[in-house]
Amino acid sequence: MSFADLGLSPKLLEAISKAGYENPTPIQKEAIPPALEGRDVLGIAQTGTGKTAGFTLPMIDRLAKGRAKARMPRSLVLAPTRELAAQVSENFEKYGINHKLSMALLIGGVSFGDQDAKLTRGVDVLIATPGRLLDHFERGRLLLNGIEVMVVDEADRMLDMGFIPDIEKIFKLTPITRQTLFFSATMPAEIQRITDQFLHNPVRVEVAKPATTADTITQRIVKMPAKDDKLKRNALRELLRGEDVKNGIIFCNRKSTVDIVAKSLQKHGFNARPIHGDLAQAFRMETLDKFRNDEIQFLVASDVAARGLDIPAVSHVFNYDVPIHADDYVHRIGRTGRAGRKGAAMMLVTGADGKYYDAILKTIGASEIETLDFTEFFDANPVNDTRRRKGDERKDNKGARRKKKRDDDKTAKRVGSSDEQPDVAQPDVAQARDKQPDADNAQPARRKRSDGKKKASRRRESAPDPVVGLGDHVPAFITRAVERC
Ligand code: AMP
Repeated sequence: MSFADLGLSPKLLEAISKAGYENPTPIQKEAIPPALEGRDVLGIAQTGTGKTAGFTLPMIDRLAKGRAKARMPRSLVLAPTRELAAQVSENFEKYGINHKLSMALLIGGVSFGDQDAKLTRGVDVLIATPGRLLDHFERGRLLLNGIEVMVVDEADRMLDMGFIPDIEKIFKLTPITRQTLFFSATMPAEIQRITDQFLHNPVRVEVAKPATTADTITQRIVKMPAKDDKLKRNALRELLRGEDVKNGIIFCNRKSTVDIVAKSLQKHGFNARPIHGDLAQAFRMETLDKFRNDEIQFLVASDVAARGLDIPAVSHVFNYDVPIHADDYVHRIGRTGRAGRKGAAMMLVTGADGKYYDAILKTIGASEIETLDFTEFFDANPVNDTRRRKGDERKDNKGARRKKKRDDDKTAKRVGSSDEQPDVAQPDVAQARDKQPDADNAQPARRKRSDGKKKASRRRESAPDPVVGLGDHVPAFITRAVERC
């Protein structure tokens, strides 16, 4: 079956061939025809299956006729993260090259003013994260009763992040006559409830069983002899130096670990950069762009980057930490081996990870994952040595740890999150920040406090010697005679 058989317009077929696609992927084959007929579609598909084009292409065809009115977008795509939303907008640009559709991207970390100006001019396609969309709506800058098509992308991720109440609210703000295209990699009960409530007689399209890994990915693990961060970083470097490693994403469970690993790799001469939810949006976007353009070889990432990011041709995924949620393993390694390409995934497993590792095996339906023989490496890097060094380091690191705790506290204040939490549930940090009016005031408040402290110490410097007890001086009221009654 070719794209022409799906019923897409010649203008779209031209854009598709320009994108270099020869044949539709399974989800495209199954979702595009009913979507073109105006039916609701429930797509159960992971990223990497071509689902974005699966909803973008029929939307463009539908929106080709008609004009947008001010503040009344004609279609809406909801995505859980800013990166994913930005990616969807890139897809619209790519496939809509022969159409004059106006588009606005409502995501956190970007000025309201620019977004508002676009809405005023009228948009055919509105792509948004739920929080930012509702912010605009609640400010009265947006009407959703002109929505003809609504897409919910990565619904299970929305669920993980607590966006379901927002999604329900948004559904209720759009006309009941809208067409809904709804995508999720898995169908937990809560998602099923939403689709039962808001989709009308949908065509159900399922292309891969939930939590399956692509056959094109070679999975391997390294069994670490101890839970030792230094040894893990050494082992990681050894893996990164592998012959066939073109580029890769290194996943860590915590934002603080992402920072440490990225810094360590940079120190050892690797072209690596961190990406996680606490980093500024501009930095995250720049990092992703550079990674896509091969200007950066390794991305050290938290799970924020695990889902939904379309980074073509990643040769390797490295799990520096065993993910706590087995599903995250599937999403992480899904960054490689995409669209039929070959990929490799490697994971460092310590004795302490046993429970999580077992859960991963269960999820992927395997009894074991091939173990890389690292004995020579461990012989050359004995754990005991490392432990002894660790003892020395402990002393040296006390100050560093205290400083890190101070920094972490500051970071937590800045975005209302904690590094003690895995970076899985807060992709649109600006959203959190937007909802925290105090965040921007944190700095002046700290400044005030530290000014106060300085003043106090200056006062101490200029004050006379402090009085301990009463000293030689006895105040007059104490020596005054007291009349007895
Ligand atoms: P997605 O699942 O939408 O994130 O898409 C995954 C990757 O597949 C993206 O890099 C797309 O550009 C690519 N892709 C989408 N449709 C096709 C197709 N029909 N043929 C080849 N690659 C495709």
